[in-house]
Amino acid sequence: MNQVISSENSEQLAADTALVREYLDRAVRPAVLDAQTQESYKRKITQLMRQKKARLVAHYYTDSVLQDLAEETGGFVGDSLEMARFGRDCDAEILIVAGVKFMGESAKILSPEKTVIMPTLEATCSLDIACPIDKFSAFCDQHPDRTVVVYANTSAAVKARADWVVTSSIALDVVEHLMEQGKKVLWAPDKHLGSYIQKTTGADMLLWDAACIVHEEFKARGLADMRKLYPDAAILAHPESPSAVLEVADVIGSTTQIINAAKQSTKKEIIVATDQGIFHKLQQMAPGKKFIIAPTAGNDATCRSCANCPWMGMNSLESLYSSLQDNSNRVEVDSQLAAAAMIPLQRMLDFAANNQLKVRGKA
Ligand code: SF4
Repeated sequence: MNQVISSENSEQLAADTALVREYLDRAVRPAVLDAQTQESYKRKITQLMRQKKARLVAHYYTDSVLQDLAEETGGFVGDSLEMARFGRDCDAEILIVAGVKFMGESAKILSPEKTVIMPTLEATCSLDIACPIDKFSAFCDQHPDRTVVVYANTSAAVKARADWVVTSSIALDVVEHLMEQGKKVLWAPDKHLGSYIQKTTGADMLLWDAACIVHEEFKARGLADMRKLYPDAAILAHPESPSAVLEVADVIGSTTQIINAAKQSTKKEIIVATDQGIFHKLQQMAPGKKFIIAPTAGNDATCRSCANCPWMGMNSLESLYSSLQDNSNRVEVDSQLAAAAMIPLQRMLDFAANNQLKVRGKA
């Protein structure tokens, strides 16, 4: 059984779309800095970080200059699960999270004793926006027989309502584990990832209806044309992409799994269906290979992201420097809410620590 909900209510869907668009309108990309100005910011930030015992964790989708700065200053670049773990285990007094809001919240929940700041608190995620706690909670109440599994790309309140939190690197394994226990799953919010998990595992899943605006833009038809141009290329895709794209992918995985697959692949040309920010790490980890972005709708009226998350793009050296100077843009999570959200988060971390996660693909 695989069922998608919410779209039965077209008014609701239109309201959700309008809300995402409203946030998108506010997601202004920072100005591009020249090399000298960048270096000057990097020096000032590094000095401040040393003084304040701060560490920077950055997501693979953020600007390459932030990824480099994180690594040069003893911080970390990774996917959301790895970022949360690094943040929890490092000895920083201040944790700077370059990413989007739910990542800052997860870092604060896992490290309540640390000051967590972000270059901007405006950076969010279409999945988080389209899964408000009141509606989600009502939906859970209608299906009390189901185990509630939510993606990490959700608010602290939605996490607190869940039995499990998962990232894309662990979602399949967790749902397989639940299926073995005879559990039925209520999944939120990404319908493409949920549908991929349902098809792969055969689990009984009820799906929330939301999508990532970046991955939803990848087009299967364009990908088929591209494959003709690069017949020997491997296709690596993130499971937030639509099912028609996943069907032609050689490897389907989280950002870290995509990087590992690119390193291990014998192919010299690799087509990648995820945010272009990951190309910086791909090029570092697999030099000598050619990486090609999978086709989106293109720069026409229908493309809202063109493989660049507008919210990840809001993180900049300037905004980081400004928030670190006065410890502004602090992430705060109500302590009761944090305690409730910690339960499913900890369940995921324990599961990840005790299980060897699998990578799926045809090659
Ligand atoms: S890339 Fe997609 S899933 Fe990731 S933060 Fe942006 S909108 Fe959300």
